[in-house]
Amino acid sequence: MKVLDGKALAGTIKEELKLEVDTIRLAGGKIPHLAAVLVGEDPASQVYVRNKVRSCEKVGFKSTLIRRGADVTQTELLEIVDQLNKDPDVDGFIVQLPLPKHLDEDAINLAIDPKKDVDGFTPVNIGMMTLGLPAYLPATPNGIMTMLDRYGIETSGKEVVVLGRSNIVGTPMSILLSRKGNPGNATVTMCHSRTKDMEFHTRRADILVAAIGIPEMVTADMVKEGAVIIDVGINRVDDATRDRGYRLCGDVDYKGLESKVSAMTPVPGGVGPMTVVSLLMNTLKASKRASHA
Ligand code: NAD
Repeated sequence: MKVLDGKALAGTIKEELKLEVDTIRLAGGKIPHLAAVLVGEDPASQVYVRNKVRSCEKVGFKSTLIRRGADVTQTELLEIVDQLNKDPDVDGFIVQLPLPKHLDEDAINLAIDPKKDVDGFTPVNIGMMTLGLPAYLPATPNGIMTMLDRYGIETSGKEVVVLGRSNIVGTPMSILLSRKGNPGNATVTMCHSRTKDMEFHTRRADILVAAIGIPEMVTADMVKEGAVIIDVGINRVDDATRDRGYRLCGDVDYKGLESKVSAMTPVPGGVGPMTVVSLLMNTLKASKRASHA
C-alpha cells in the first residue's frame, strides 16, 4: 500500500511557495498577508489556527491573528470582518469555525468579501467553483485535489464515493470530482446520515473519501480491494497510554485497511497538512490578484 503522505507533500509545496515569496520580495512586490480570526477556546481550533499562522511564517507570508473571547458579540465580530474586508494590506482572511453557539455563522460568512475569502466558503466562490469558473476553492477539498494530482491518481471515469455532505468538505469534494477536469471526470456518489446501506456504495468505490467525523467507522469489509482511501476525519479518542490522554484518528480503520487498499492517507499527516497548504496557495493567489487590481 502506498501511503499518501500529506505532510511530506505539503512540505514540498511550502518550499515552492517560499521560493515564490522570495522572488516577490527581491522584486520589491507585496508580501502575501493572511489574517485569521479565532473566537473562544476550542482546543482543536486553537491547534488549527496555530498551524496556519506557523505555516505562513515558514513560507515568508505576513500573518495576523485576531483573538476574541467566546463572549464576543455578533456585532463585534461583524465589525472585525468589515475591517479586514477594507484593510488593503490583508490579502485574505479566515474566520475559524466552529463559532460559539450564540453567533450566526452564516451571517458572518456572508459578510466576508469573496475576493478575500481564501477559505472558499462564501456563496460567490462556491457558485464560481460549481460553474467551473476561477474561484478560491475550499481549502480541504482543494488540498485533496492537489494530492490526487501530485500523486498521479487517476480519477477520470472512476467510481468515487464521498461520505459526508458538509458545506466545507463533502459537498464541494463531490462537485470538484464530478466536474470536467483533471482531477475530476469521476462518477460520484455522496453518502450521508440518511443513506440506506452505505456499505453497498463504499464497496463499489475505486476512490473513497471519508468526511464524517466518526472514529474508524470505515472498516475493511466496507471497501473494495485496491481502492484509494482519502481519510478526512480528525477525531480525538481517549488513550490513557498517551501523555495528553487522547490520540488522533481518522474516520477509517487505518490498520484494518492497510493490507487491502492500494493507497491511503494517514491521520494525522494526510489531509490536514494539505488543507493548510491550500489556504496558503489561495492567499498567494489573492495577493497576486490584489497587486494587479
Ligand atoms: P460535519 O461534522 O459537518 O458533518 C458530518 C457529515 O457526516 C454530515 O454530512 C453527515 O450527514 C455525515 N454523517 C454523519 N453520520 C453519518 C453516518 N452514520 N453515516 C453516513 N454519514 C454520516 O462534517 P465535516 O465538517 O466535513 O467534518 C468531518 C470530519 O472531517 C470531522 O472529523 C472533522 O474534524 C474533519 N475535518 C478535517 C479537515 C482536515 O483538514 N483534515 C477539515 C475539515 C474537517
